[in-house]
Amino acid sequence: MEVFIEPIGKLMNEFSKLPGVGRKTAQRYAYKVISMPEAEVRAFADALLDVKRRVRFCKICGNFTEDEVCAVCRTRDSSVICVVKEPKDVVALEKLHEYSGVYHVLHGVIDPMNGVTPNDIRIKELLGRIREGGVKEVILATNPDVEGEATAMYIAQLIKPFGVKATRIAHGVPVGSELEYADEITLARALKDRKEL
Ligand SMILES: [Zn+2]
Repeated sequence: MEVFIEPIGKLMNEFSKLPGVGRKTAQRYAYKVISMPEAEVRAFADALLDVKRRVRFCKICGNFTEDEVCAVCRTRDSSVICVVKEPKDVVALEKLHEYSGVYHVLHGVIDPMNGVTPNDIRIKELLGRIREGGVKEVILATNPDVEGEATAMYIAQLIKPFGVKATRIAHGVPVGSELEYADEITLARALKDRKEL
């Protein structure tokens, strides 16, 4: 016999799909939902569906947006492009309130061991933006781990023929770590002390 009655077990299974949620936490979440007023549960369910229906990728930078082109791409200095691995890296950099350029989200890094080639991430889209002209600098802000470094070097080589300056964020961010976890002062310094490649 199952320990949990069917609807509870089912909800627990759904919660278990979230990162960092094990069986125990899933059980706590499920019990919490049972104790919530129906209106609150409905708001929760609506928010889940809403995020799926309304959020899409900006057709220029690849970050999350509700529109075809995101607010950053529409309003900021497009002569400087900061290249990052994932949308969450944009959040980490935006929190600094120090950067006035635009972004390019790769949605991954080159990782041959796991079968990720340059064609699997948004490198050709970046080259497309550079080809359109007006880009003076590309800041390579992939994580300072093996894949992030390799991806930065690869892109730097590709963009050099265009006469665009390629810079790499400084090593203030501890090697092997993720931008997301760097404290704001460290990350701001890493951005400010970027070096030309
Ligand atoms: Zn955008």
